[in-house]
Amino acid sequence: MRIDVITIFPGYLDPLREALLGKAVDRGLIEIGVHDLRDWTHDVHRAVDDSPYGGGPGMVMKPQVWGAALDAVCGTDPDRRPRLVVPTPSGRPFTQAVAREYAAEPWLVFACGRYEGIDQRVLDHYAERMPVDEVSIGDYVLVGGEVAVLVIVEAVARLLPGVLGNPASAAEDSFSDGLLEGPCYTRPEVWRGREVPDVLRSGNHAAIARWRRDRALERTFHRRPDLLAALPPEALDRHDRKL
Ligand code: SAM
Repeated sequence: MRIDVITIFPGYLDPLREALLGKAVDRGLIEIGVHDLRDWTHDVHRAVDDSPYGGGPGMVMKPQVWGAALDAVCGTDPDRRPRLVVPTPSGRPFTQAVAREYAAEPWLVFACGRYEGIDQRVLDHYAERMPVDEVSIGDYVLVGGEVAVLVIVEAVARLLPGVLGNPASAAEDSFSDGLLEGPCYTRPEVWRGREVPDVLRSGNHAAIARWRRDRALERTFHRRPDLLAALPPEALDRHDRKL
């Protein structure tokens, strides 16, 4: 997968070269390009923002600079178009399902907004040339899109074949079956008087699977009843319904 990020703070994206993501880059599973938006400015101040039409506080990112940057990064080949992802608190929620969608794409380009955001005409223009997604990583407002890009890229990258040491871990994580994952334990058997549940030491795989499923259901019921309510009825088995 190819990932390009356009930002006025390229250094913010350095963590893309750390840990699991860095290894995926080193192994050629992900190719990452980080671009400084100011490289496409032509004035002495290298300005990327201007005051908003209609008045009000804050500044808006200029369409000319974004247009030049996106033309250069996305290219002009109509047969090779990326999906353009624009983080914004007013976007559709970024979820594990969206992460799976993105993981199936060969090329993602991220446009990091700052200030009040990017002039809307930029998004409308590129939506005629490629898929454009405005996505939010949660109901709060960050200072810029860079942290959102780190979140999205990490969630997507770990779904790519070969990135995780054991692909089963992604398959069993929270949200993969619509539920939160239950608690997990490791050695020692007793820590500060607290014991690992007996069933996990029983070696009885069916009982362990049932216990894990029950804890996942309980946790989802208490913490995210909205997820349970969204499950199709066939996703629950006979035992699930007794809980
Ligand atoms: N004026 C915008 C609004 O009220 O919707 C907020 C702009 S915010 C201060 C600046 C930038 O931070 C946005 O353009 C976006 O790139 C990023 N951002 C802030 N919150 C975000 C969120 N919850 N999800 C994704 N990106 C976010």
